[in-house]
Amino acid sequence: MENKRVENCPFCYPPITETGFAESENFLAIYNVAPILPGHSLVIPKWHLESLLALTDSELAEMMLFSRSTVKILLETFGVGAFNWTIQEGEAAGQSVRHLHLHLIPREFGDLPRPGDWYPRLRTSEEEIIDSQSRPRLTPAEMQSVLRKIRETAAKMKTTSTSIPPKSPRPVLGSLE
Ligand SMILES: [Zn+2]
Repeated sequence: MENKRVENCPFCYPPITETGFAESENFLAIYNVAPILPGHSLVIPKWHLESLLALTDSELAEMMLFSRSTVKILLETFGVGAFNWTIQEGEAAGQSVRHLHLHLIPREFGDLPRPGDWYPRLRTSEEEIIDSQSRPRLTPAEMQSVLRKIRETAAKMKTTSTSIPPKSPRPVLGSLE
């Protein structure tokens, strides 16, 4: 796996790790400097990669599993049970930061006028990430405060988490062929 930083990529900018609160071998969970809602975080690969399609099978599996454990930390921290989970891949789909990133956005009833309003807000949020080195939306103090809260939950969940086996065998679908 190549590990090179790309100039002008906000996610390759080393201080990005200062906003991190969880990591796996190849992925990092960071708090969004321009959150559209409380808890809005991102999962990014630790190396510059534009496309989800460029991940190997095992990297993709690692990303999904890590993102699931990250979203559990966020739901616990922010005391909610719903979330949006999205990847914008390619400019035509609204990707403005060309470093693969999965948005994780905890949700609750009434947080936005209409539940679907999170989507148009992402564009603005992404533009602010690009500009964030000169114009952060969260102050450093606000960022530290939210990170402290999430890291505490993450540390607690790490020590108490157990894997729960499925209650009964899962139904098996027939093959499509
Ligand atoms: Zn990058």
